[in-house]
Amino acid sequence: MKRRGRMGAIGCLLASMLLAGAIVPANAAADSTIAVISDQEAEDVIVADQEAEDLVAPSEEDLLSAQAIEGDISFIEQDGTTQTLSGSDFKADLAQVSGDSVTLKDGWYYVSANKTFNNRVEVSGEVQLILGDEVQLDCKKGIHVTSSGSLAIFSEPGGTGKLIADASDVESCAGIGGNVGESGAHLVKICSGNVTAKGGVDAAGIGGGERDGGKGGDGGDFIMYGGTCNAHGKEFGAGVGGGNNGNGGTIIIYGGELSAYGGYYTALFYEGGGAGIGGGMASEFASGGDGATVIISNSTVEAYSTGGGAGIGGGGGEPRSFGYGGDGGTVTIKDDSTVYVNTKTNDESEPGWAIGAGNDGDNTKGSVSLYDGAVVIQDPDGANSKFATENDRIKYCRESKVIKIEPCKHVNATYSKSATGHTLQCAYCKADDGTKEPHVFDGDNYCVTCGYHLNAPHFKRANLVLGERIGLTFWADLPTLVGVDYGDAYVELSVGGKRAHEACGGR
Ligand SMILES: [Zn+2]
Ligand SMILES: [Zn+2]
Repeated sequence: MKRRGRMGAIGCLLASMLLAGAIVPANAAADSTIAVISDQEAEDVIVADQEAEDLVAPSEEDLLSAQAIEGDISFIEQDGTTQTLSGSDFKADLAQVSGDSVTLKDGWYYVSANKTFNNRVEVSGEVQLILGDEVQLDCKKGIHVTSSGSLAIFSEPGGTGKLIADASDVESCAGIGGNVGESGAHLVKICSGNVTAKGGVDAAGIGGGERDGGKGGDGGDFIMYGGTCNAHGKEFGAGVGGGNNGNGGTIIIYGGELSAYGGYYTALFYEGGGAGIGGGMASEFASGGDGATVIISNSTVEAYSTGGGAGIGGGGGEPRSFGYGGDGGTVTIKDDSTVYVNTKTNDESEPGWAIGAGNDGDNTKGSVSLYDGAVVIQDPDGANSKFATENDRIKYCRESKVIKIEPCKHVNATYSKSATGHTLQCAYCKADDGTKEPHVFDGDNYCVTCGYHLNAPHFKRANLVLGERIGLTFWADLPTLVGVDYGDAYVELSVGGKRAHEACGGR
């Protein structure tokens, strides 16, 4: 609660008092630990490092409750394929671990049924976790992953496994990531499944914990390949990225859907917040965390912030203590991704920039790059939505408060057309590189893209006169430009210059 002491505002003090009563100390963690259960016998169970974690060994009863996993377990890998492991490949089925605590060390874990851990789950080493379909793993005080640990999350093939890591009542600790003063995990990876992560006061949803003294916990690395993720920072923490004062880390979204919400803090005449994706907010004469290195590829991302944090970029500033907002990060948006950013969901102070610095940060730093076919829409939700022109797209990203980036639909585009194809001329994106594309015709012979009308059908006729009175006429639909389709061709018999049908009186 250090930072609130100097705020002085009555509201802050009240808030502090209220919070102090409600908050469980970060290291109240575990009063006992069921640890990693091996794939062998009960005696193979590895008890967590008691000295480091101040934990008590699990009871005999707890150990016996952990059973070996029978049969194979399939799951969605990061490349989207379904993979299968044998039950003996797993260290434990967490659903069979009794008690409220667990420490996961190197290896694979499975969750076969709903399970709740009321203490903070500890991850040390390289841990892979497969969530059973329709199963929820509820970590009531979040998951502690140190900067040397990694956590990879998968679901069974239905993709419906769910992990909730909610540290929102654990001050200073990330939902998934560092404790107070610690950076985020070496790597948090979501390959499939549905993850919700909520940080405690001044910590990130996924990433760093609150600062301890000077610099806050940086974000660590976060990679998504699929599934869904909702990440909420609290107060000065980023949704995904740094805790209070912490930098953003590296965040790569290769697939799936991420929604990230920076924290928000308000008191009398004062408010602040972390970035949706990026740095935590400034405090105590230290600047806000700088933005992350962010790559979004073939994905859907929403980033929200309020109180001064950037949507994607730096944490908010704190003018009262001369803490400037964090700078923007390096942001690359590729491969038809859709990105929505809103930095003014709830605040009255100056919001941060959509993709760039937090308020009072240096918005000339950092960079944004977009795929050629992206359109940038400012204030996309309201009646005043405005498309950035092709050359303003980056400027709009950096200097707007609410934007949407999505594949351009080339509204009001013009096309140079010829019989052999069309060439796009769009004012809002860079997809108009002069490439001529072939027409694609609908059933009425209009190009669905450029509207070019094929001058067809061309009924061509060839008469073959057989004597004076009898002729054969070959009719065919001969579109000359897109190949020839003789599907409608037919032969007509005429007698005496009249169609046979007429000549015979309809008989
Ligand atoms: Zn366009
Ligand atoms: Zn066309």
